[in-house]
Amino acid sequence: MASTSTFRPNPNPCTNGVVSSPRRQFGSFAFESSTSLFGSKFLAGKSFSLSTRINRPEAVISASSRAFDVVIVGAGIIGLTIARQFLIGSDLSVAVVDKAVPCSGATGAGQGYIWKVHKTPGSDKWELAMRSHELWEMLADSIHDQGLNPLEVLGWKKTGSLLIGRTPGDSDLLKRKVQQLSEAGLQAEYLSGHDLLQEEPALMVGEDSSAAFLPDDCQLDAQRTVAFIENANRHFASKGRYAEFYHDPVTCLLRSGSHEEVEAVLTSKNTLYSKKAVIVAAGCWSGSLMHELLRESEILLDVPVKPRKGHLLVLENFNALQLNHGLMEAGYVNHQTISASGPFDHGQALSVSMTATMDAMGNLVLGSSRQFSGFSSEVDEPIITHIWKRAGEFFPSLKELPLSDFIKSRKVRVGLRPYMPDGRPVIGPVPGLSNVFLATGHEGEGLSLALGTAEMVADMVLGNPGKVDNAPFAVPGRC
Ligand SMILES: Cc1cc2nc3c(=O)[nH]c(=O)nc-3n(C[C@H](O)[C@H](O)[C@H](O)COP(=O)(O)OP(=O)(O)OC[C@H]3O[C@@H](n4cnc5c(N)ncnc54)[C@H](O)[C@@H]3O)c2cc1C
Repeated sequence: MASTSTFRPNPNPCTNGVVSSPRRQFGSFAFESSTSLFGSKFLAGKSFSLSTRINRPEAVISASSRAFDVVIVGAGIIGLTIARQFLIGSDLSVAVVDKAVPCSGATGAGQGYIWKVHKTPGSDKWELAMRSHELWEMLADSIHDQGLNPLEVLGWKKTGSLLIGRTPGDSDLLKRKVQQLSEAGLQAEYLSGHDLLQEEPALMVGEDSSAAFLPDDCQLDAQRTVAFIENANRHFASKGRYAEFYHDPVTCLLRSGSHEEVEAVLTSKNTLYSKKAVIVAAGCWSGSLMHELLRESEILLDVPVKPRKGHLLVLENFNALQLNHGLMEAGYVNHQTISASGPFDHGQALSVSMTATMDAMGNLVLGSSRQFSGFSSEVDEPIITHIWKRAGEFFPSLKELPLSDFIKSRKVRVGLRPYMPDGRPVIGPVPGLSNVFLATGHEGEGLSLALGTAEMVADMVLGNPGKVDNAPFAVPGRC
């Protein structure tokens, strides 16, 4: 399938940042062979080759210059689900580019709850969250209808979720939350301490304990889900509609003569021409990437997305505790539960909130921390101890066990959540660059909001009426 073509290279090579080139230049490439891997719809490049790299499947391609309808920067859950949406919902061709591989960003660390119990009906994100959950459930159902098991394919479990309070103040908050969720049409129950213990016998339940219970809430396994979406996307490679460029950071944008559109995305190895749209879904790196890409242009854009580091502790094949549901402490909602003003805080606004799930493999997954400590994804051991101690305050059986007993059967996951100061993702076109769209800033909800975000982005690009109001996520006034 591979073919070779040669072209006259762009006389304005991009060094860094935005480079302008007259749009006509695109047509000036002299192709000596027009047979490309993906057929005549695509422009073939110089020394075009299809290479299967070690550990990467055949859809990973090495080429010097290619054209696609849509180029997506970032292969986290947001970028990959956007690619999926274009592939299943249109006839456009899609390239996904990543500086590393899927799951190397925040996505690989995600705990996997896509719950509604901690969300607020009527908030800016509510409609998007509801639509996204609906789409996740439809995906799980479609997998089931194909005779496959969503538990195996996605790590999909309808465990229900419990938002747990331990004070009279929490109890009032949870009663109000249950009322709001019920009024929004969800099945929601307020549980007293007694009822909570029936649902979750492993919990330490005091006289002021209570919970909001959403029996229909679901969870997935981020890594299984990403693998499923990647494989599904790759089916379109043989139809000439999909390609991946991994270990290939984006370095530059090439603008058209009109200056209002980006014509191509330059990576460390490739020039990827985009006929319709460029989507930047680079998680917490989106701000610095856009800053770098637009550095020498007249466009003023400051995407204030910041890395918010999170740790998760995974205890493999854990038998000392069984959970019937997914659990989260009520304080998670404000992300401020424990202010660890200890020696390891260093002004990072460190907080640790108890979250607990059992994953599809029977591992106990305990979360989670939040801190602002730059782009480092090193494991901070004191934070793991903190997560363990916090979990011990909810589960007496854990309190009795030293964490050092699990040194061989534990894993730590660290990820950098894309944090937006106003708490809303940024989804929409960049002012001044009409074919460039941002889709980032989902902080701790990227898994949960992914399918709704993907649908929103595709609808914007395709000019379809949106299912959800996109105004709260627009770029102007926020970046
Ligand atoms: C500990 C933890 C637990 C979480 N639990 C949950 C949960 O239970 N439920 C939930 O909904 N959410 C959860 N989240 C949040 C969720 O994981 C994120 O919101 C989501 O993964 C963000 O996805 P993304 O695609 O925007 O970013 P990422 O997954 O970070 O992907 C961005 C990609 O962009 C690539 N990139 C960056 N720069 C470049 C460049 N120059 N060129 C090319 N590629 C580039 C990166 O390599 C990366 O692969 C959790 C996060 C953490 C850290």
